[in-house]
Parts: sequence; C-alpha cells; structure tokens
Amino acid sequence: MRYSRQRESILSILQATESHPTADWVYDKVRREISNISLGTVYRNLAQLEEMGQIRRINADGQSRFDANLSPHDHFRCLTCSSIFDIHMSHDDMTAGLPADVPFKVTGINLELLGVCNECQIKEIKGENSHVA
Ligand SMILES: [Zn+2]
Ligand SMILES: [Zn+2]
Repeated sequence: MRYSRQRESILSILQATESHPTADWVYDKVRREISNISLGTVYRNLAQLEEMGQIRRINADGQSRFDANLSPHDHFRCLTCSSIFDIHMSHDDMTAGLPADVPFKVTGINLELLGVCNECQIKEIKGENSHVA
C-alpha cells in the first residue's frame, strides 16, 4: 500500500510538469509530500512506472529524464540549458532518404532534435551568456 502511494505521488508529479525532469528533480518534489522517501525508492518507482508503461524514459546525453506524456511525440533538447521540449512532427516520408540497400524494416522513429532553445537564443542576443568562465 505504502509503495503504491509513493508511486501515485511520483506519477502525479510527472503528470503536472512538461519539463521532462531527472530523478533528482522528482525526488526533490516528492520529498515535500513524503518526507522520509529515499532517492533509491524514487528510482525504483520510476523504473516500475516505466515498466508499467505509464511514463517514458528519455536518454538525454547519458542522463535519464522522465515524461508522463504518452502521446506520440519527439523531443528537442537545448544544448545550452539542457531543457527538453515536446515536438509534434510528422514522420511521413522520414525514411525516404534511407539508402535502398538498407535491409531493415523500419517500425518506429525515435527522434531527439538538438539546438538552442528560444530563451537561450534571447539570452545570447542580450549577451547574458557570458563566455568568461
Ligand atoms: Zn536553452
Ligand atoms: Zn515529451
């Protein structure tokens, strides 16, 4: 019972955000509701939710990020601030560029677009991203 309450809290935290957070971020939030929860428990519950198909795990530059939005979509990751944004784009014709001799049957596409997000572009223009270390 206790475990399922923890899982419920973690799931509702993920459902309330579009930021594709890390386990550490989720841990920080869930601790406000369940003060004695451990980071290990958060990891275990995230793995269970993923297994149950209730959340998606995104591998972003070697780090796991989590997404409770299960509708088909791709991701854009900002290389400056590491934010992840949802992108809804058509996959039609996306395999058109495949060489004819590729012997695979494509059944799905998993895209991560990389670049600089809007906010970071604005900061760059304003010169807020100081290049002085
Ligand atoms: Zn950014
Ligand atoms: Zn997403």
